[in-house]
Amino acid sequence: LENALRQSQKLEALGQLTGGVAHDFNNLLTAALANLHLMERHLPADGIRYLDGTRTALERARTLTGQLLAFSRQEAVDPKVLDLGDSLRTMADLLERSIRADIALDWTLPVAPVRVEVDPVQLELAVLNLVVNARDAMPAGGRIRIAARREDTPDGPLAVLEITDTGSGMPPEVAARAFEPFFTTKPHGRGTGLGLSMVYGFARQSGGNATISSAPRRGTVVRVTLPLSSRTPEPEAVPEAAAEMPDG
Ligand code: ADP
Repeated sequence: LENALRQSQKLEALGQLTGGVAHDFNNLLTAALANLHLMERHLPADGIRYLDGTRTALERARTLTGQLLAFSRQEAVDPKVLDLGDSLRTMADLLERSIRADIALDWTLPVAPVRVEVDPVQLELAVLNLVVNARDAMPAGGRIRIAARREDTPDGPLAVLEITDTGSGMPPEVAARAFEPFFTTKPHGRGTGLGLSMVYGFARQSGGNATISSAPRRGTVVRVTLPLSSRTPEPEAVPEAAAEMPDG
């Protein structure tokens, strides 16, 4: 028992250390990406090409620190009422940049609002993780469908988010363990095994659930359900310049 206790204290200390380092790295990477974005606006088109690799590397690093943060739970969860369709729409650019030219992104988003109460940063990270997994499962190209809707389920009406790919699929023994932290089938250095565990943690923490249905060589659907929120979304912070504009 004493051994187990020591072990869990060690794990906790490790989690705190990881979370602290990941937090600082995340801020640095966010600053670097913002500077890169500014640089891109001032460079001629052929100069921008040289920055592509830098951006990809920084984005990968930020995904990793985000996963470590979510895993070590150092970042306070800050749920907001938001429209699932709108939130996904604002991610379109990020997601397009995260896939490859041989992959098509299809969208099936609701016209009517589907309100949920979740941490927007976690939602973005979860969707990014799912799209990156879908991409990695399709080395020869394919399609990724991002669908959101309100659905009447046996548990009542829920918000549903589904990421479907036409990739390799998972054998049952992989699907059974895919949500486990640190479970990965990717080559060393390529996968952390934290992506799906973050997605699952996000779904459960938000009062919902995440499930996988997958068929080898046919593809995978990851389905995230979230409780619907009846509250109205908080208004976005009004930018200062706009706030000073006279009416009409
Ligand atoms: P990582 O992507 O770092 O390996 P994840 O937790 O996101 O960690 O995924 C765990 C494992 O689940 C992956 O290594 C892969 O074997 C499998 N997996 C996840 N998503 C998919 C998918 N869309 N298609 C096929 N396999 C997948």
